[in-house]
Amino acid sequence: MARSFVSEARRRGLGTRKQRIGPIVERLAEAHSDAEIALHFGSDVELLISVMLSAQTTDVNVNRVTEKLFVKYRKPEDYLAVPVEELERDIFQTGFFRQKTKSIRGAMRMLIEEFDGQVPRTIPELLRLPGVARKTANVVAAELGDAQGIVVDTHVRRLSQRLALTREEDPVKIERDLVKIVPKDDWHRFPHLLIWHGRRVCDARKPRCEVCTIEHLCPSTRMAETTL
Ligand code: SF4
Repeated sequence: MARSFVSEARRRGLGTRKQRIGPIVERLAEAHSDAEIALHFGSDVELLISVMLSAQTTDVNVNRVTEKLFVKYRKPEDYLAVPVEELERDIFQTGFFRQKTKSIRGAMRMLIEEFDGQVPRTIPELLRLPGVARKTANVVAAELGDAQGIVVDTHVRRLSQRLALTREEDPVKIERDLVKIVPKDDWHRFPHLLIWHGRRVCDARKPRCEVCTIEHLCPSTRMAETTL
């Protein structure tokens, strides 16, 4: 599927990925000037916990749980001070609660023992925390002000493919393609722009190409079909 979008971009003379990326970012930034992380947090530790809880669930659901969680658990030590079952109960509604509890407690222990209770800034350090994979590390580093890669979630993957910015399916390979063309200064906001555009306009099943601000830059527009 993604492969044919790349051929279509070439066939319609839309320009190369490098030529299109600037206008794509510009147009999306105008259309979604409010695009930012949807998780609610008030500290670096809360950011890390929120992102860890967001696996396999919605940001809205995580915010509902953390609204109470962050009143009760204020520092890394608090997550280790309660019985495992209590923390499991407190995060139950985010799903996969047993695994998430294990990961959170492991991560908090490592923060205390190896990072003076602070959330580390670099991807290699973040990846050492139990339960923290590349996507979580990328989100946390970017929100802490030093994006060291591009977050690839389901929206970023779908839109990057539809826009023929990548031929890949695997998130790690998609990220590798994106960091080659997206200017480093935009690594933080780029995934947010795609995520919000994916939620508001470029729906997985029913993209609203007729109102899309980057329609003229997109090889998978449905408008081309209607004008043929
Ligand atoms: S033109 Fe259609 S398929 Fe392309 S990005 Fe816009 S909504 Fe998505």
